[in-house]
Amino acid sequence: MSNTDYDIIIIGGGASGMMAASSVRKNKKVLLIEKNNILGKKLLITGGGRCNLTNEEYDLRKLLKNYKKAEQFLYSAFTQYGVKDSLIFFNTRNMPTKVENEGRVFPVSDSARSVYNVLVKEIKNKDIEVLSDTKVLNILHDTKQVTGVEVEVNKKKIILTSKKYILATGGTSHPETGSTGDAYDWLKHMGHTIHTPKPSLVPVKSNDAWLKKLQGIVLQNVKIHIFADGEKKNSKKGKILFTHFGISGPTVLNMSKEISDYLNLKQKVYLSVDLLSEYDHGTLNKTLTDLFQNNSKKKISNILGNVINKNLISIILQNTKIDEGITGNAVTKEMRMMLIENIKNLKINIHGLLDESEAVIADGGVDIKEIDLKTMKSKIIDNLCVIGDLLNIDRPSGGYSLQLCWTTGYIAGNTQ
Ligand SMILES: Cc1cc2nc3c(=O)[nH]c(=O)nc-3n(C[C@H](O)[C@H](O)[C@H](O)COP(=O)(O)OP(=O)(O)OC[C@H]3O[C@@H](n4cnc5c(N)ncnc54)[C@H](O)[C@@H]3O)c2cc1C
Repeated sequence: MSNTDYDIIIIGGGASGMMAASSVRKNKKVLLIEKNNILGKKLLITGGGRCNLTNEEYDLRKLLKNYKKAEQFLYSAFTQYGVKDSLIFFNTRNMPTKVENEGRVFPVSDSARSVYNVLVKEIKNKDIEVLSDTKVLNILHDTKQVTGVEVEVNKKKIILTSKKYILATGGTSHPETGSTGDAYDWLKHMGHTIHTPKPSLVPVKSNDAWLKKLQGIVLQNVKIHIFADGEKKNSKKGKILFTHFGISGPTVLNMSKEISDYLNLKQKVYLSVDLLSEYDHGTLNKTLTDLFQNNSKKKISNILGNVINKNLISIILQNTKIDEGITGNAVTKEMRMMLIENIKNLKINIHGLLDESEAVIADGGVDIKEIDLKTMKSKIIDNLCVIGDLLNIDRPSGGYSLQLCWTTGYIAGNTQ
């Protein structure tokens, strides 16, 4: 291995680094350095192992709204390489995709490995040299240029040099995948501003004992309202997943930052879940009245199974103190009102969030005003690009994070 003459060294073989490597032009001598023994360890666990690789939103304005404060800075990047380009990239490499709710795109195989395989094959086809199992220890630089990267190979520290460098070491969420925030100190040392990473898309903790009984249960299409100090703050419709520590699922993840803000203000937070948001109070009252009349000899617990998830029936009956054994004809108006109140307003007290290590993304990272997002080049260090989760860009769950990796990775790889 020559240690002096690369055209590009890419540091970090996650989603963004792999896309950068896949996108380099012909005849470039490129080295991709990854500290794990395989590339893309985090990519393989995305979307619960199914990889929600992008979001099928072709209206650029609508798409970029999801990147919140970064929206205005991303037009040029996404015009160069957007959702359509990523889909063409994967689809034309034998990886068909399908669209699920809220525009989430997954491989038809339902396996993140399909995405991984496309990228690994492309890196091989491009003859990119991959140095895995190798941790970059330090980045050497002067005030304008990176001058080399220090790595340990066979217990010997060596310096590798290149004309250009792409930094793709990721953020701090799920550190067991290799993303341990190594680049933050390097970038700070080079003069960049780093916004301290905080968990952004992260599951929510609740000590409510009844939740434990629901571990593993998923409810689709429920409406979740956030209440802080008794005031309704926000509502979203979607999926909720009950876990051993509380609740998760994409909708809850997308509400977690707001929940964390109220908790930080020491406000008392609870979620009110409307299990049947498609029914207004009157329609639900009529539906239950008819059900109890038409099933007058059946047990209430069996009757309620017609309208709500079976796993929730005993909890609703416990909350309303209604005996599970009573029959339809014994349900009073008062009981029916209590049932409606509980079905449309199931309260979950929130006690905190899981920590950063469990977050899908930790927001924070390098200030994007210091990066030219047309080229991904640092405005401080001439021969350095910064991509992927390292950029301080907040976004919701739904494929937006990986799309950001494809966009920033492609531009950094292709424009060198
Ligand atoms: C559980 C989970 C599920 C997710 N699901 C989705 C999803 O379905 N859709 C979506 O859009 N996003 C999802 N995300 C977010 C998405 O995975 C990230 O946005 C994306 O992986 C970021 O890619 P990256 O290349 O910037 O960084 P990373 O994937 O973190 O890769 C960085 C790489 O750099 C390497 N590295 C770090 N330091 C060094 C060093 N010193 N020397 C050498 N190598 C180093 C690491 O080992 C790692 O391989 C999910 C995240 C998590 C944690």
